Amino acid sequence: MTPREQAAFTAGIETARQMALTAAVTIKVRADANEVRQQAAAAALQGLAVGLHTAFLDSQAEPEPIRRAFAAIAADPSDSGTIECPTCKGRLAWIRDSHNGHLHGECETDGCLRWMQ
Ligand SMILES: [Zn+2]
Repeated sequence: MTPREQAAFTAGIETARQMALTAAVTIKVRADANEVRQQAAAAALQGLAVGLHTAFLDSQAEPEPIRRAFAAIAADPSDSGTIECPTCKGRLAWIRDSHNGHLHGECETDGCLRWMQ
């Protein structure tokens, strides 16, 4: 996969994981949530979410591109700017909150790098 395809794949897996968790919570708040059938369904959905994370998200080297982005941004003394995205080579816009030092970054490519910390 190209980095762009990898980013889209990762975003899709994360979406599926969140949908499974949302469905599990939806079942757990039902009036009949104590029935074995509902408990089994919720447990299966939670297992699916954990499995997706373990199989596809834990093993990926996603922190590496973010570390490279941080390094490029750290070299820039201004409060905001754009760098080349280390994942897809697109434009990655970033802004540093001068109040609390938090750094927000977002790539122009859908599903690519995005963080707030
Ligand atoms: Zn990107």
